Amino acid sequence: MQVLLIEDDIALAEALSQTLKNEGFTVNHLTHGKLAVVSIKTELPDIVILDLGLPDIDGTEVLKLIRRESADLPVLVLTARMSLEDKVNGLDLGADDYLAKPFEVAELMARLRVFERRASSLKHAGLSIGNVSIDSTSHQVSVIGQNIDLSRREFMLLKALMENAGRVQTRDSLESKLYSWGEEVASNTIEVHIHHLRKKLPDNFIQTLRGIGYIVKPT
Ligand code: CA
Repeated sequence: MQVLLIEDDIALAEALSQTLKNEGFTVNHLTHGKLAVVSIKTELPDIVILDLGLPDIDGTEVLKLIRRESADLPVLVLTARMSLEDKVNGLDLGADDYLAKPFEVAELMARLRVFERRASSLKHAGLSIGNVSIDSTSHQVSVIGQNIDLSRREFMLLKALMENAGRVQTRDSLESKLYSWGEEVASNTIEVHIHHLRKKLPDNFIQTLRGIGYIVKPT
């Protein structure tokens, strides 16, 4: 799950990012609203965590712009302004949930897991192509009915390829699904993961388009 964290309090953002990464989320962090909107237009994350008090534009503006891009992208609003009026306003603008600062990290994680469950039940909870089945909710992968063990990143990679079956996935786009911004990624990382995945999957399940990327063909 890719989380876009929009928060100008660096200390809070760093602590949150670390916790989220430890829980298996991929986290991209931005401090400004305008940049966040550009980023969302370029690539839709799975979940947005949005602080309302941002240095350039107000978080409620960001929320409006997010809703123009996507009606159902889950947005969790973080705010110190917890007046009833603000809460009603934000919900009108399409926030899915609210958390008042200061909050417990455990509370935030609980809310995110609700989003995660909702997202994965909407998005291909179970998907089968040929002899390979993947279940995003239980993180199980099976080949001809036999469960196989994949690392977290192998799972994310296979999921990205299967959800986009029939469409070529470039190395760059796969990399952005597997890693947070600023994370050190060796240039052959995706190739290495693909190599390991292929050993566990039927022959030719993942096909290489030389110089472009990888594809799983729908059957
Ligand atoms: Ca703030």
